[in-house]
Amino acid sequence: MANGTEREAGGTDVDVVVVGAGFAGMYLLHRLRQLGMSTRVLEAGDDVGGTWYWNRYPGARCDIETLDYSYSFDPELEREWQWSEKFAPQPEILRYAQHVADKYHLRRDITFGTRVEGARWDDQASRWHVRTRPVSGGAGEEIVARHVVMATGCLSVPKEIDVPGADRFRGEVYLTGRWPHEPVDFTGKRVAVIGTGSSAIQSIPVIAEDAAQVTVFQRTPNFSIPANNGPVPERKRALIEADRAAYRESARWSGSGVPYERSMVSALSVPDEERLATYEMAWERGGISEFLGTYSDHLTNPAANELLADFVRGKIRSIVHDPEVAEALCPTTYPIGTKRLCVDTNYYATYNLPHVRLVDLRKHPITTVTERGVDLVDESLEFDVIVFATGFDAMTGAVVGVDITGRDGLTLREAWQHGPMTYLGLMVESFPNLFLVTGPGSPSVLSNMIVSIEQHVDWIVDCFVHLRDEGSETIEPTHTAVEAWVKHTNEFADLTLMPRANSWYMGANVPGKPRVFLPYPGGVDGYRRACNEVVERGYLGFVRRGPAGERCNDGIIRRLAPDVGVMLHMMSELGLPALETLSPPEVRAFTEAMAAQRPPGPDVGEIVDGRYPGAAGELDYRLYRPASPGPHPVIVYFHGGGWVFGSATSDDPLCRDLCVRTGAIVMSMDYRHAPEAPFPAAADDAVAALRWVADHAGELGGTDGEAVAVAGWSAGGNLAAVAAQVARDAGGPAVSAQLLLTPVTDGAVTHASHEENADGYVLTAALMRWFWDHYAPPEQRSDPLASPLRAERLDGLPPAVVVTCEFDPLRDEGDAYAAALERAGVTVHHLRVPGHVHSSLTAVDALPTGAPFRAEMADALRSFMGAAVTA
Ligand code: FAD
Ligand code: NAP
Repeated sequence: MANGTEREAGGTDVDVVVVGAGFAGMYLLHRLRQLGMSTRVLEAGDDVGGTWYWNRYPGARCDIETLDYSYSFDPELEREWQWSEKFAPQPEILRYAQHVADKYHLRRDITFGTRVEGARWDDQASRWHVRTRPVSGGAGEEIVARHVVMATGCLSVPKEIDVPGADRFRGEVYLTGRWPHEPVDFTGKRVAVIGTGSSAIQSIPVIAEDAAQVTVFQRTPNFSIPANNGPVPERKRALIEADRAAYRESARWSGSGVPYERSMVSALSVPDEERLATYEMAWERGGISEFLGTYSDHLTNPAANELLADFVRGKIRSIVHDPEVAEALCPTTYPIGTKRLCVDTNYYATYNLPHVRLVDLRKHPITTVTERGVDLVDESLEFDVIVFATGFDAMTGAVVGVDITGRDGLTLREAWQHGPMTYLGLMVESFPNLFLVTGPGSPSVLSNMIVSIEQHVDWIVDCFVHLRDEGSETIEPTHTAVEAWVKHTNEFADLTLMPRANSWYMGANVPGKPRVFLPYPGGVDGYRRACNEVVERGYLGFVRRGPAGERCNDGIIRRLAPDVGVMLHMMSELGLPALETLSPPEVRAFTEAMAAQRPPGPDVGEIVDGRYPGAAGELDYRLYRPASPGPHPVIVYFHGGGWVFGSATSDDPLCRDLCVRTGAIVMSMDYRHAPEAPFPAAADDAVAALRWVADHAGELGGTDGEAVAVAGWSAGGNLAAVAAQVARDAGGPAVSAQLLLTPVTDGAVTHASHEENADGYVLTAALMRWFWDHYAPPEQRSDPLASPLRAERLDGLPPAVVVTCEFDPLRDEGDAYAAALERAGVTVHHLRVPGHVHSSLTAVDALPTGAPFRAEMADALRSFMGAAVTA
């Protein structure tokens, strides 16, 4: 690494080659200079600006307010540049990029008009050999570099024009993403625009101002909201200027890179008038994230999404006079927000102009472009100009557009043939020292890109410093880290409606491109936390090599299921009290208040509340009856709550879910709680409950004479296991099956998971100790009525479904109980749930990734109960 000295642009042996001089390449160059790293930036265009250099079509402007869409790394730059409009036009954004280049003297290290064609890794020398070629032709260079950074842009390679006969047209042809530098005069011309994405939606109204005729060829309509553009809103300017640093910091830790108050309210939970008023306000205010974020579930719940989509369709119908045209403009085939929401000025109203026509390609497909125009199946149209606004080979196009060969001759195209495989969207296995800015697997296009670009550049530069300081020459991600990150990204996407659209986010716009969700949907904030944690944990998931040897820190940064991660983060943000610091009455009040906010769970046929004789007096039960005609099998269920809190109704959503999934009557039986009624009161009540239900199964709607099942969660799982053992020893009642969901089985609390998962996963080791301290004194805890794992014999017990969760302090004692049952000859369905916490499977409708496990658990229980009946 060159130390503090800048080398001449044109050097062929440098520390870093940067490909691209858009906002990413420019900021990277500035940072690398500060570090004293010799850098060559290679740019195909003739100047800086990237997107804003190439996309000069009429009406081009940003869709994120430009005050937000600005660099934040230098307060002086921020102060001296004033934006003229809320959404600045392309020429102004390009001038801003040029101003930045001037201010930091960037151009002297940028070679313009030069395309990087290939890069080959030399493992012996730990260097990249980068091949370039001037765009104007002639010989290129070979540059040797320790690092290569692809700052090549997510939307920089226009999609190949795939309209049949496109090259036959003899009139003027323009591509929005490669617009000429000279103004295009549309005056008096007949113009065809093919495509109705953001580029078309911005350009059509402006082209229509001059053209004699505009014909828009639409394959799929897009949702668009008005920019309501104008001067920079004074309120926003004042807000930023009042505390610039704080504003930028809040953008960095926001979901989309634009700070705004995120709604926690479901669109389905508010009255129609209130929701419509909120939508109206958002329509007037504008802002993509703010509009989609008016309610919390627009991008996750189809019904909520449909409300917003319907609102926009209503707007389209109210603006466009011709009802047939309005209908054709209404998107109906994908959820709103699953393709980039467009931001327009007068788009829909333009269709009211007499010289503007919409051709719906779903009804009138193009057969071919001709020398004079466009032939549809049922009509020939003539034009002077065709504008192709047909989009980009997004996110991967520019990266695989370079012929990159990593270790052992592996090419990036081969490595990504089934879709891009990256760690954090930053690096690729087998491609040491190759970095991507806003690559696939990072929030990139789902965010304010400037915020994401700055974050990536800062991470990469910090990484270079780290490598230098520790004497490492190379860095690359491990296979485990890459696979896990890709899986995590896909799991996150699957929690949203995003994969339902044929969008460029999915690669679906380019024929033959693998269908994979490309950006990271977990938010700018969640992503930044992951990147920071990787560093804090010693570059987890990376292997670094240098003269001092190899440092491999293999591992997975996000092992929690994504929805569980989000839930835990939200809980930590709420600053909830540690339950073990409260008194039992306070814990009961607190958990009841929390339970009131849960989704209710599915509807069942009937719910009946009643009383039964416990071991020392009457207690409550709640019966959940399936909607199907009876009689039904019966499950005796015991709630969780560490024997201290909870009730017959406290696990209501889970009991409903169990009832619906198993088709059984679920009898949720209360029991006495500690410390008022310590051990063995709860166990005695559980046994009494089992006996009473077994004796009354027929009256309750169960099948006469059929054995009942026992079930329970956590402390309730403990009671279910205990009740099954007592029934076996007493010779009855007959128990058909037992479902033990993350059960307490051992008072010794010595299993490794108590330490491994001691804190941060809802049930803490400290809380578990608090429960035991209230329930049973240490000398009684090894009693099998408290610790079923300690029973002398486990044979002769009913078949068991034992569910354990990876991030649960109780995991190992549940695993131990399942293993011990199996050793004793009991049939066991042991369901180990990865990525989940102690309470995960009780969070019905709140944690979607838990649903398949609840289904498996219920299926196994049902089959055990069914087998008992058959036997
Ligand atoms: P780019 O600006 O795309 O720059 C990449 C550069 O790399 C290009 O100049 C390209 O010529 C060069 N390059 C690529 N491959 C090679 C090669 N092999 N050799 C040499 N040079 C190469 N994002 C937002 O957040 N808000 C917006 O409002 C917004 N509006 C947009 C409007 C349009 C019309 C488009 C197309 C995109 C928009 N985006 C927006 C996304 C936009 O791309 C980013 O905001 C940002 O400008 C990307 O900067 P970049 O430096 O990463 O990439
Ligand atoms: P796009 O969103 O991919 O839109 C391309 C359009 O062309 C779609 O309507 C597509 O139809 C159509 N199309 C493609 N091939 C076609 C064919 N063979 N026949 C007929 N129609 C065809 O591309 P874009 O408009 O350039 O926008 C891309 C992204 O760049 C945006 O989503 C946004 O992120 C960014 N951008 C932002 C702004 C802004 O407002 N700041 C402006 C422009 C671009 P189908 O949908 O049926 O494929």
